[in-house]
Amino acid sequence: MDKRLEYAPCGYISITHEGMITEMNQTFLDMTGYQREELEHKHLESIMSKANQLVFHSYFYPNINLHGHVDELFISLKDRSGQSIPYILNGRRYENEGVEVIDCALVQMSKRMDYERELRSAKKQIEEAYWEKEQTLAELKQLHAEIGQKQAELLELNAILVERSTTDKLTGLKNRRYFQETLEEHIRGYREQGRLFSLLILDIDHFKKVNDTLGHQAGDDVLEQMGSILSHHCREQDIAARYGGEEFVLILPDINTQESILIADNLRHEIAQAAWGSRIPGGITASVGIATFAGTDNEATLLRKADQALYTSKEQGRNRVTHSMDSSALPW
Ligand code: GH3
Ligand code: MG
Ligand code: MG
Repeated sequence: MDKRLEYAPCGYISITHEGMITEMNQTFLDMTGYQREELEHKHLESIMSKANQLVFHSYFYPNINLHGHVDELFISLKDRSGQSIPYILNGRRYENEGVEVIDCALVQMSKRMDYERELRSAKKQIEEAYWEKEQTLAELKQLHAEIGQKQAELLELNAILVERSTTDKLTGLKNRRYFQETLEEHIRGYREQGRLFSLLILDIDHFKKVNDTLGHQAGDDVLEQMGSILSHHCREQDIAARYGGEEFVLILPDINTQESILIADNLRHEIAQAAWGSRIPGGITASVGIATFAGTDNEATLLRKADQALYTSKEQGRNRVTHSMDSSALPW
């Protein structure tokens, strides 16, 4: 055999029309591990499994007989250790001086199959990774939605907490802490924008007597009803707060001295005329002290002025209104 054919980069075998191996090159021997004398004059099917023999019979011979050649037949041959190795086989019938031979070129397929297997596995991994990514994305979306929901709940809860921390439980009015913060804001508002405001301090008259004669619960009921009268009397921008005990404060933005006296007296009148129920036979009155913010004031001086005016109202007989600018209390 030609030396180049002997070491050609593919296996070469020659078989008779009956399938008997007559020649083979060294490359084929190297690929299969056989010695030349182990294959010579052996039937090619002797190194095939039953299934491969069937393929060979039903495809190889009919094509050789019909077309004189076979292209790219996928077939497995057993190597010397008995392991089945896949090949691509091209065969061609050749007639030499009346003797028919079939030349076959064989290219080993195992590497290509390994590549294909690797490719399939990589494709599967990519698909799985893609699926996991989709899954993770869906979970993330769900989580985002849950976080959004929780944040909304938190905001709502926070608003409730803020409301609670600034509200007086018994009367439903703002508490003293909230009042003080708001008073500071109004003082700032006056200094920065010249917005004037008036402050009212309102104290229930002889409230101790209500408690002493009618009981603490009746006292609480009066405080509650007072809260309701004050909040109904207020405009949206006004602040009504319980200052402590039976004392209340009101901040009235944009209200000057004259207006504040009128408003306070209306309120005093409303309290005195309110239906306090049969449990409070004598009814309820309240005294009011007012201070309208002046440029030289601060929180302490303003409160002191309103408090002194309230003291005057009490001094002069209660159920009356006194403005700090006007030493004479308005008599009922
Ligand atoms: P005046 O006309 O001088 O203001 O007299 P007063 O009796 O209203 O004032 P005084 O300061 O002597 O008494 C206030 C009372 O208010 C004493 C206290 O027990 C009562 N009090 C304070 N807080 C509450 C409360 O939350 N509920 C009840 N029921 N009573 C309260
Ligand atoms: Mg008091
Ligand atoms: Mg009182």
